[in-house]
Amino acid sequence: MDYGLNEIQIHFRDLAKNYAETNVKPVFDELDKARAYSRDLVNGAAKAGLYGAFVPENFGGKTHSPMCVALVVEELAKVCGGTAMSFLANLQGAIPILMGGSDSQKSNFIPKLNSGEAIFSLAVYEKEINDLSLVKTNFEADGDGFVLNGVKTLVIGEADFYTVLATNSEGEKSFFVIAKDVDGVSFSENIHMLGLNTATTREMTLNNVKVSADSKLGGKDGKTMSEIILMASRLFMSSICVGVAEDAHHLAIGFIQTRNQFGNPVSEKQAVQFMLADNMSKIESSRAMIYATARAIQNGKKGVTDSAMTKLLAGEACMLTTTDAVQLFGGYGYMRDYPVEKHFRDAKTAQILYGTTQTLKDFIGKVESRKEI
Ligand SMILES: Cc1cc2nc3c(=O)[nH]c(=O)nc-3n(C[C@H](O)[C@H](O)[C@H](O)COP(=O)(O)OP(=O)(O)OC[C@H]3O[C@@H](n4cnc5c(N)ncnc54)[C@H](O)[C@@H]3O)c2cc1C
Repeated sequence: MDYGLNEIQIHFRDLAKNYAETNVKPVFDELDKARAYSRDLVNGAAKAGLYGAFVPENFGGKTHSPMCVALVVEELAKVCGGTAMSFLANLQGAIPILMGGSDSQKSNFIPKLNSGEAIFSLAVYEKEINDLSLVKTNFEADGDGFVLNGVKTLVIGEADFYTVLATNSEGEKSFFVIAKDVDGVSFSENIHMLGLNTATTREMTLNNVKVSADSKLGGKDGKTMSEIILMASRLFMSSICVGVAEDAHHLAIGFIQTRNQFGNPVSEKQAVQFMLADNMSKIESSRAMIYATARAIQNGKKGVTDSAMTKLLAGEACMLTTTDAVQLFGGYGYMRDYPVEKHFRDAKTAQILYGTTQTLKDFIGKVESRKEI
């Protein structure tokens, strides 16, 4: 489909495609098997200019465009969902700084994201909560600064700086930028996941971590910022879904065109063609929703429900398509030596991360049922 991409959008799409083909493709399989995060790939993406899709010009980037970010993430995910997630995790970590940082905090950190000098990650989720307004990680004033205590889980990437959501005893929510090597910060081993193996995921413990006052981000309150971050995360996660799904779909088509059974290629069987038709329609409609939502957000519209609907659709399309791709490869689809099983493993997260299919339906359903008609 023709989405009428403009010059800068085409620039970022092609830049990311080239980076993924040249730098990610040769190494992702080895990284996946070793369950290894590659700092080089995230730094390399920065050096190639890919964060310029998110970083405004005054901080060294090219544009601040959800649409350009969506295109970049999609292209990376076509080659490796985990690498796209590592790229995204770095960007997510910087969102609270760009939204809530003072001029000096922004000038200190955002150019480092753009150049690859530093890597960021978001640390918001905790065990026992499914609502970010319920975070337990605590901050309290301590002399001229603050002291933080708590445990964050499912923190993606091996970053230099973590943007940590915490609450104080009065219920105020705020983000803090915390360096990885500050006294009291420690990390678990890489959590063994089903998929997204090239994106390290760990627990982060903050034990009496003392930080200076300028580690605290201001701007909008922590709850509103969390909602905006969730909206962006759902949108860009949808781009991962579309990238992973489309590559799995293409791999399956390539396989069945050359696989003959009962006298002709598997691709000629109508039951198989129905699968392809369903899957491509769902991939393309997910992509159309991503682009429409990205454009609406760029034009200043609130995209909370739209991004939830997009992630719902894209997550389901991704799981369906990758499951069918494994099926169409037959016995080979189940083998680690063939590429579709990785897409299948990476895809399962799409129905969980940033809102499960069920909680998204719950949220969207409530909005719908209470609409004034
Ligand atoms: C690889 C990975 C990386 C992650 N990275 C991050 C991260 O960087 N930042 C972050 O904040 N989080 C992260 N997460 C956490 C993720 O966002 C949560 O796991 C996800 O939102 C689901 O929440 P939960 O695990 O608490 O499940 P729960 O909410 O406990 O859900 C458990 C089950 O109950 C169902 N359920 C819950 N509520 C309802 C309902 N109302 N109706 C019907 N069914 C319901 C769910 O669908 C699910 O099947 C990550 C998760 C993974 C797997």
